[in-house]
Amino acid sequence: MSFSSVIAQHRVKTILSRAFKEKAIAHAYCFYGQDGIGKDALALGFAKLLNCTSPQYQENDIIDACNQCKNCKDANRLEHPNIMLITALPAGKVNTKNEDSPLLQLSEDMLSIYASEMKLKSEDPYHVIQIPNAQIIRLASIREIKKNVRMSAMQEGRRVFIISQAERMNMESANAFLKTLEEPHDNITFILTTSKKDALPQTVLSRCQQVYCDLLPTQELVNALCSKHNLEESEAQLINAFAQGSYGRALSYMNEDMQSMRRDIVDLLRIALKRKQYRLDLMKQLEIIASDKDRTMLELLLRMLALWIRDCHYVVNVPNEDSGIINKDQIESIKKFAQAFPDADYHAILHMIEQSIEHIRRNVNPGIVMLTTMLSCREGFLLNTSEYLDHAPKDHVI
Ligand SMILES: [Zn+2]
Repeated sequence: MSFSSVIAQHRVKTILSRAFKEKAIAHAYCFYGQDGIGKDALALGFAKLLNCTSPQYQENDIIDACNQCKNCKDANRLEHPNIMLITALPAGKVNTKNEDSPLLQLSEDMLSIYASEMKLKSEDPYHVIQIPNAQIIRLASIREIKKNVRMSAMQEGRRVFIISQAERMNMESANAFLKTLEEPHDNITFILTTSKKDALPQTVLSRCQQVYCDLLPTQELVNALCSKHNLEESEAQLINAFAQGSYGRALSYMNEDMQSMRRDIVDLLRIALKRKQYRLDLMKQLEIIASDKDRTMLELLLRMLALWIRDCHYVVNVPNEDSGIINKDQIESIKKFAQAFPDADYHAILHMIEQSIEHIRRNVNPGIVMLTTMLSCREGFLLNTSEYLDHAPKDHVI
């Protein structure tokens, strides 16, 4: 989990390297930006650098941990006493005392899940820790930080407390954390990571140096998918098109059968454009392909639909140039489709799908969103054709 294993994020690595070089390390940082772009990875890499005994100067003004010294090896296993990673935890057993450490409060089952999740995190800092019913960063975890802060004078090096998904602190935890943050400490750095900065109390945020972490550039994300997961370039490109700069999102898509999902959603579009009985068939087919999917996967389906339609639009605008087509393995099919609908209102359709994605994110009933999307596609594709005018549904509310 050195900087060198963090994908992209050169700007942030440079900022942190400069702070390290100038011995101007902040008392507290807040690394913020979208999910899955490596905020925890940066925090762990920085914590490791701050404790490494022989930091390495690299090109582009980046300084990285040596990955060889004992401190680096301990940090790699998440076992360095100076580095503490705090995450949300489930409620403890009954009959535990308030002053017990948060891990002592967990049942044995939960403790073993916690241990294996931490191991996965140490092996891959992009791993998202998932412990059942762990929604809140508990007061007990903040008390543990306080206890460790008090012990810090006896330790060598710099102590780093990383609070992952810091927005999960409830009011009680945040208030307790604020008190710790307000006290002056030598050789201690707090790093909060969050994709929901606005959910953190302003009083906490104002005491942190806020560092925005960028989305990952296309080629670096594609390269990472190819090298870490042995993907073919074309496959990585397809995943990248939907991951939108998030490695975490790319990983969640990797286990999906992207090709068959794309086939399903394009078939659905074809049903929506049928002359007759499209409405009933749409509902039947939606039940088959969408009813078992969560919101993330429905969003992916809609993004696939948008990308397919965007490719059709591209073919209409630039008929003799294939290089800008993203669904490269489907060029012939896309061309045929685009030729069949020369008068489609592509801008309106793509805008409408973006709105549908927003609705999915905002918990609108997914069945209604999907059906409305397909009916709106029908309107956008057929509006200017006699086919639509002949068969326009009278009860068609969009
Ligand atoms: Zn080292």
